[in-house]
Parts: sequence; structure tokens; C-alpha cells
Amino acid sequence: MSSEVIYINEKSDIPLFGVDFIGVIDRGTNIVELKPLTLCNLKCRYCFVSAGDYKTNFIVSSDYLIATLENTIQIKGNYDIEIHIAPYGEILLYSELFILLEKLWEIDGIERISMQSNGLMLNKKTIKKLENANLTQINISLNTLSPSKASYLCACKEYDMDRLLANIDLLLDSNINVLLAPVWFPRENDEDIEEIIKLVVNKRREGYSEKKIQLGIQKYLIYRTGRKLKKIRPKSWDYFYTQLTKLEKKYDIKLKLGPNDFGIHKREKTMPLNLKKNEIVDLKIVSNGRWKHECIGKIDPNIGIKVLLKKPMIYSPELLGKKIKARIIKANFKNNILTAIFPF
Ligand code: SF4
Repeated sequence: MSSEVIYINEKSDIPLFGVDFIGVIDRGTNIVELKPLTLCNLKCRYCFVSAGDYKTNFIVSSDYLIATLENTIQIKGNYDIEIHIAPYGEILLYSELFILLEKLWEIDGIERISMQSNGLMLNKKTIKKLENANLTQINISLNTLSPSKASYLCACKEYDMDRLLANIDLLLDSNINVLLAPVWFPRENDEDIEEIIKLVVNKRREGYSEKKIQLGIQKYLIYRTGRKLKKIRPKSWDYFYTQLTKLEKKYDIKLKLGPNDFGIHKREKTMPLNLKKNEIVDLKIVSNGRWKHECIGKIDPNIGIKVLLKKPMIYSPELLGKKIKARIIKANFKNNILTAIFPF
């Protein structure tokens, strides 16, 4: 697959608010999400954002992220803020990661920094660097302890499970907290989920605290634009929570986690525009997107919007800089993510 990479900085004319796959995501709480890149070292069969497969990838300058974030934190209040770095991709591919971590700690009000990773690029040196950079927590997506099943789920030839588990041990002996975040694929990894629970229970028996090693089992969800595991049908939320309750009793461990368990509380939102679904919005096209039917629009100097091009229309450079009208198809009040369609 040929893949172009676009580097976004202050001069790029691409706002870092509003687009789901890059920039700053504000869900109206004290946790602010950062999405610094879209590159991934894997191409998991279940990836809900289809990472590893993009025609165009994006990398955002750490300076630009920091400048945007500073404004966000001004509005939210500079206390008890957690930064959660959760790209549509793998954060350890971000060459500015350590610069970003350093600059984040300089912002008044940031008290925790967590990040998501598939963990496969971890090694002793990187863990030491992450520890020196005062990373608070790493969330590792580990869906099974079986190397062959992990290779299947992640669509990779070899999945070095021993190395990953050894690195998790190194993390546990560092200052960094670990959260294992398996996705539960009904009938695909039922037993594996229990194996992961046992791993956490055993680590806690060895003396690691509940904060040091956490477990956040995630429900398998299917998204229109994501990849799907064949033959696996997601179950209802009721079923998911009933199963978690059974496992909680079986292993005497808390598995149903809510906002309080993660120290999340409501805070001021930064999105200044009050846009609604089906509204027609004026925007300027400022970049192509990840796929040929996608581009990035700009509504005002700070607000971007993902624009889906109605098939059969595909992105072409003539669209760049064009001012168009598009119809909003997603404007969620819970976050600052906007999507529009053009033509409508
Ligand atoms: S699930 Fe995570 S690791 Fe796998 S392809 Fe998607 S972003 Fe990459």
C-alpha cells in the first residue's frame, strides 16, 4: 500500500479541534485526549478505526499540539487535568513523543499523563525513557496470552508474547502504572479474557497494588468504517455487564469500571460553536483525509471538520482551498468531533 504522510504544524492551516483522527479531543471532562499521529505498526483485524491501512497518514507537531492544549486548559481550568494520548495508531511511532511529554509537564494543571499502546514496540530502553519522562500510566491492548491467537487478531506473522509480558513486568517495576485493556470478542477470546484476569489477580497477589496494575475489559463494538472480525457478533451491553458480574464473583476482582474509578469528572467544554446535525455549514477544504473519500475542512481558525465526500466523488487537489457548503452529519455534544458530507 502506498502511503503519503502529512506533517501538520501551525502553518498547515489545519485546526486541531473538530477532527476525530488528529489533534485534541475534548469530551467535556478533566481528561483531554491527544491524537498526535495516525501511523500504526499493526493492522488488527478488529481495529475500529482501520489504522495501518490509510492512504494518507498524519503526524502533528508537538509544538502545535501544546499550543492548542494550552488554550483548552485555560478554558477548562488549570487543575486536576489528565492528558490521555490515544492515537488512531501506535504512539511509540511518534518521534516527538518524549519532547511532547516534557512539554506537557510544563503546562500548569496537568497532573497525570496516560497513553495507549499495543506494547509491541516497548523495550527496556524505551520503558526507562518513559519512566524518566514521568509517564503516569500506559494502557496496553492485550486480548489474549496466546501468541498464535494474538497473531491472528493483530494480523501479524509473529507476535512476541514473551517479550511483551517481560516488558509488562519491567513496567510494573517502574514508576509507570499499567492498565491492561483487552477487547472481549464473544466466543473468540472468552477463555483468554479469563487468563488475563488471572494474570492480574496473580500480579496483585505478588504485591502490585490495584492502581499499579489495572484491568479495563472493553466491549467489542463494530463501526461502519472499522475492520470487523469475521463471524463475531457483538453482544448487548446488558450481556457484557452480566458476564463481567459473573467474572467479578468468580475471581473476586472489580471489572466494571466507571468514571469514578478513573478520576473523571465534568469540566467546561472548549468547543465554541453550537452546531447541530443536518445544519448546513460553510467551510474551506484544507487537506485531503486518510482515504480517498475523505478530506479535512476548516470552519473557523480553530475548528476543523471531517468532510466525507459522497461517492463516487473522490478527493482531488482541485478541492484544496475551495470554499463549500456541507451538511453536518455528526455533531456530538459530548465531544468536539464534527463530521459533514459533501455534496449533500
Ligand atoms: S487496534 Fe490499535 S494496534 Fe491494532 S491496528 Fe488499530 S490502532 Fe493499530
